[in-house]
Amino acid sequence: MARYTGPRCRLCRREGDKLYLKGHRCNTDKCSFERRKYAPGEHGRGFRKKISDYGIHLREKQKARRIYGIMEKQFRNYFKLADKKSGVTGEILFQLLERRLDNVLYRCGFAPSRIAARQLISHGHVKVDNRKVDISSYLLKPGQEISISEKSRGLNLVQDALAASTDTSKYEWIEVDKDNFKGRFAAVPSFHQIPVEIDERLIVEYYSK
Ligand code: SF4
Repeated sequence: MARYTGPRCRLCRREGDKLYLKGHRCNTDKCSFERRKYAPGEHGRGFRKKISDYGIHLREKQKARRIYGIMEKQFRNYFKLADKKSGVTGEILFQLLERRLDNVLYRCGFAPSRIAARQLISHGHVKVDNRKVDISSYLLKPGQEISISEKSRGLNLVQDALAASTDTSKYEWIEVDKDNFKGRFAAVPSFHQIPVEIDERLIVEYYSK
């Protein structure tokens, strides 16, 4: 599966917002966006022409895609899938993204970022309903349980993430049992519960043009 391997902080500066792609570093004064709140590149700091209507739609789509760490082709496929379902397409799109295994692992606090969560999954450290799953895009169904496999519970990545994660109760749709390295995806969240600052209508309009 293709993935972005360039500098992650550059993506935040490109989108003009903190996307929290680097785990704990994002909450420290080492955050690049805090220090350089302008777009990357030669002209990043200079005069910026007015953004076009297309540009507004494109940036919103790119921001969402980058928050979840998904390449364009896969993101478009999620949109197509959401579009086929009855309901508000933009909201269903985010509900699908929230069901991804890497996202739930991150929200549970077992990994400092979605990228780190993906690493844990692809290296076989994660189970779903007690069976190993190494596909980050696996879509969880309500009621399914995720866990860190027994032999992987001592990993620094997991231990540090758990030590740093504080209150997970803000995610009403996820139950976390830190002591037993388990989490339960209790329900699909409504769009308004999902903590992302995105205007989903712009994404729908972008793909509908
Ligand atoms: Fe973005 Fe985190 Fe880098 Fe800050 S430290 S620019 S929030 S990825």
